[in-house]
Amino acid sequence: MCQDPKQTPIYKLRHSLAHIMAQAILELRPTAQLAFGPPVDSGFYYDFDFGGEPIGERDLQDIENRMRRIIKEKQPFEQRFLPLDGALAQLDGQTYKTQYAKELVETGKAGDEGLGFYTNGPFTDMCEGPHLEHTGEVPKGCFKLDRISGSYWRGSEKNPMLTRVYGLAFESKEELEDYIARRKLAMERDHRKLGEELDLFVMDQEVGVGLPLWLPNGAVVRNELESWAREVEFRAGYRAVSTPAITRKELYLRSGHLPYYADSMYPPMPVDEHDEYYLRPMNCPHHHKVYGARPHSYRDLPVRLAEYGNTYRYEKHGSLAGLLRVRAMCMNDAHIYCTPEQVEQEFRSVIEMYLMYYKHLRMGGFRVRLSLHDTDSGKFVANEEEWVRSEDIVRDVLRSMDIAFEEEAGEAAFYGPKMDIQVKNLLGREETVSTCQLDFVMAERFDLTYVDAHGEKQRPYIIHRAPLSTHERMISFLIELYGGAFPTWLAPTQVMLIPVKDNLNDYADEIENRLRHQLFRAEVDSSDESFNKKIRNAVTRKIPNIWILGGREKENREITWRRYCSKIQQTVPLDHACHALERMRAERMMDNFDDVNLPIAE
Ligand SMILES: [Zn+2]
Ligand SMILES: [Zn+2]
Repeated sequence: MCQDPKQTPIYKLRHSLAHIMAQAILELRPTAQLAFGPPVDSGFYYDFDFGGEPIGERDLQDIENRMRRIIKEKQPFEQRFLPLDGALAQLDGQTYKTQYAKELVETGKAGDEGLGFYTNGPFTDMCEGPHLEHTGEVPKGCFKLDRISGSYWRGSEKNPMLTRVYGLAFESKEELEDYIARRKLAMERDHRKLGEELDLFVMDQEVGVGLPLWLPNGAVVRNELESWAREVEFRAGYRAVSTPAITRKELYLRSGHLPYYADSMYPPMPVDEHDEYYLRPMNCPHHHKVYGARPHSYRDLPVRLAEYGNTYRYEKHGSLAGLLRVRAMCMNDAHIYCTPEQVEQEFRSVIEMYLMYYKHLRMGGFRVRLSLHDTDSGKFVANEEEWVRSEDIVRDVLRSMDIAFEEEAGEAAFYGPKMDIQVKNLLGREETVSTCQLDFVMAERFDLTYVDAHGEKQRPYIIHRAPLSTHERMISFLIELYGGAFPTWLAPTQVMLIPVKDNLNDYADEIENRLRHQLFRAEVDSSDESFNKKIRNAVTRKIPNIWILGGREKENREITWRRYCSKIQQTVPLDHACHALERMRAERMMDNFDDVNLPIAE
């Protein structure tokens, strides 16, 4: 059942705290002008015009103390209604509120009873409510004043700049503390911060905004994900193709991306005499051309074409966000061309692949959305019969696999329904990480066919899929999920070799050489730092394996193995250690989680 959000206890609590805060601030600054003070997702805020005497962060503690006193006084919230002249008298001297009161009356939003006011103690505010019964209902320890920022009256730069005071508020002290802890973790794990600290990627103004440069460490993570995808796809009968990132305008006129998708594409480049070329915003049209380049029999289907393809999309400057929203991206793309009889099984296999990847990477807590068309927006290809049929196919597959999903109309691709995997970040903000689409339109547009058992030409169905999303988006999630501590198979440096004395450097070099020949990424720390500092440096870089080399280790051809963030050390023969490392890599063990049984001990 859907409850009016304004009638929820948390709304009343946050809204009441906004009043209590304004009341406390007026004690400090009696001439402050009040603007708006609504509840928001994590609490509430209130905007003030302090004239020449603004408050600062240093005042927040004092204001909080005053708020607690007001709460103790159990002041009742009392509602009453006033006609415009009464309201203006009540609001005497409050220019913003007066302006808003007049506007409400002029636009007929004031209601028959007049303008609503709430009073608690000495404080009165024009407001619709609802509020708590009295200030004493605010639970102990459930709020905290957070920060101060600037904001414009009614959000317009043409208006005066106001001071916004933010508070956090939840239904209990525990929930507040939990939120603060999660926010702290989210800041520590922010992929932009960790990307910088771990040398994964940089943004360079001269290169352009939204165009990440992947440093060697970041390229390792990309390449390892790609190798995995290639193996998984090879076993599942995919074949890799390679196509150009720039293409003629005609291709997008055929696909329908022009003019409909033009807003997300870069402007065309004039080439030769009469041609215009575009940077590609997606790989599909090229793959359709690959399929269409050769005749196909029903015996060859499904044809599964895969490519980690570079694409370029125009995103507004203001919406760019680290790796999460970029202008150049590389997608784990593939297109499957199949008969109507095969489409269900193919869709099912694709979903199984999604679930395998998500489970392996420990990306739990996602939500599956079935994105459907609608009939009134005009955003979708008109073919009601095919829409219903395709949507039924996807819905049936999800149901038969016992996958919980929610349907949303109007979210489909313009050429067919899709399944979206919505993942929440640490603060609960949801993003689409990967999608899988069923397309009944493009085969027609690209005149793609196969010859059926009776020698007749038929149109294939097309499945678009990208389970590992783009490198940019997937890696931004993995960085935050793992806090930058990658498992051995993904880690930029897999083993740090630490000789405890200078005369052991040759043993370290020998092992480094051996690991290199086994295609492991190992480093020797032969710096002049102390032993403890070397360990700390490896931990700061979140290197999963530290091999400590002492005199006894060298003598017995052993290493002492210490894992990231573990004080437990095990001394094992070098041969065994190399073998264990190979198993961890081959099985792509998620050894950054402590429930994994590692083959370290003999
Ligand atoms: Zn109010
Ligand atoms: Zn596609």
